[in-house]
Amino acid sequence: MRSYTYCPICGNRLEGARIDGRQRMFCPVCAWVHYINPLPVALAYTVNRENKLLVVRRAQEPALNEWALPGGFIEAGEEPHEGCLRELMEETALNGRIDRLIGIYHREVEMYGSLLVVAYRVIVDDDTIAINNELFDAGFYPHHLIPEVRIPLHIQIISDAKESETLL
Ligand SMILES: [Zn+2]
Repeated sequence: MRSYTYCPICGNRLEGARIDGRQRMFCPVCAWVHYINPLPVALAYTVNRENKLLVVRRAQEPALNEWALPGGFIEAGEEPHEGCLRELMEETALNGRIDRLIGIYHREVEMYGSLLVVAYRVIVDDDTIAINNELFDAGFYPHHLIPEVRIPLHIQIISDAKESETLL
């Protein structure tokens, strides 16, 4: 993620300083400070009635062509679980319902910087998939037949979800 060189408010060149315990860029004219906050993402660990897991093959960067859990950025004004179900619907046309929260995670991604990721377990009754242009492929798989997921965070979420299931 690129950082600002000029103030987005007044256009003056930014300077660096230690502010609130961290090195940050600020505007010496209007005092705007570039606080860098994580972007919120919702991911959907989605199962059908047979407890098969939905994985999707991404048609976009980052992680182009990788198998992943569906999800995307939460929009302003949206509850995290609403963003999760909306992204699932947009990408796969699946109408899910939230089962439970799996976890909240932080990751650094080169393309976007810092991400705050909220992962939900989602259940679908009708598992008829229609993918949009963000995906190459999508399907429900029994756990021993899931295509190889290589994104570390998604591996972590799948592991966390399965671990908590065995505790039930
Ligand atoms: Zn300024």
